Amino acid sequence: MKIIDLRSDTVTLPTDEMRQAMFNAVLGDDVFGEDPTINKFQDMAAELVGKEAAFLVASGTMANLVCMLTYCARGEEAILGDKAHIFLNEAGGISAVGAIHPHLIPNQPDGTLQLDDIKAAIRGDNAHWPRTRLICLENTHNRCYGAALTPEYIDSVGAIAKEHRLAVYLDGARIFNAAVALGRDVKEFTRNVDSISFCLSKGLSAPIGSVVCGTREFISEAHRYRKLLGGGMRQAGIIAGPGIIALERMVERLAEDHVNAKKLARGISQIPGLSIDLVRVQTNILYFDLKSDKMTPDDLLQQLDARGVKILQTGNRRFRMVTHYGIRSEHIDAVIVAFQNIS
Ligand SMILES: *Cc1c(COP(=O)(O)O)cnc(C)c1O
Repeated sequence: MKIIDLRSDTVTLPTDEMRQAMFNAVLGDDVFGEDPTINKFQDMAAELVGKEAAFLVASGTMANLVCMLTYCARGEEAILGDKAHIFLNEAGGISAVGAIHPHLIPNQPDGTLQLDDIKAAIRGDNAHWPRTRLICLENTHNRCYGAALTPEYIDSVGAIAKEHRLAVYLDGARIFNAAVALGRDVKEFTRNVDSISFCLSKGLSAPIGSVVCGTREFISEAHRYRKLLGGGMRQAGIIAGPGIIALERMVERLAEDHVNAKKLARGISQIPGLSIDLVRVQTNILYFDLKSDKMTPDDLLQQLDARGVKILQTGNRRFRMVTHYGIRSEHIDAVIVAFQNIS
């Protein structure tokens, strides 16, 4: 039985071309800055997102932590959505490692933070208050149905930040999904943020890695924190090789995942006992709720599993499905049939 794994786009396996690229990568010691494949990859990545410089890190979690440590000293504050991946899913790293104070404001259903909420969260100069340093955005927004923030929205956050001399960091784990979904150049999303990271290991299908991009000065400072966290890698060109293929070949095809997610969402909307907010499905992530009490969440997972379909439970009766490379239209048909056959 073919397993259709919709738990995450991180389950994607490297393409044959990526495996070749790993095999053929020209290598050196990247801690000395001497891995030619890394250097080529980093230049490509920076150029693609319109920043001066970039470096590779092991994961999106490390990218977020490195960037936040670079901007915020102990006790300083970062304004963060209450559904941010950084807040919910990164083991509290900013607090545990950096003693960074998260100032949470609500994420709206479309993944944005209200501009008035941001303004109200920025602290004045008062010895009682932590110093505000940073505003973090997430695009696409994982917990908000993979919503894509528009470049214009990000610009308006950038303007507030500038006025208050704060930095803006964009957790762009899936920024290319946003760019493809809205038909915009990725540079439009980054023109008013100070730094951005994105994942190679999700929809872009590379096996490992994320990239941090920003000014040369920022990257040089952030480099210290990557080292501090044990993130200095050696012949990491074996990771950058597939990363180059990811950037060259895997970006435009994300559109396919978005078509498949919408098709899947329409299918789910027809299943009695399940509820889904169809209009929110914009990229490759969808959530649905189990409304029927004829079935427990565990039953649902087990029955799907028995039919070769894997999905992720993210709440009491809430589930997530993510489309990705390797999931084709006929697999979506099969998943919908599996749901129809569940009793
Ligand atoms: C997956 C994800 C990350 C973390 O990436 P890892 O490589 O899994 O550490 C960060 N932010 C968002 C929005 C993500 O979806």
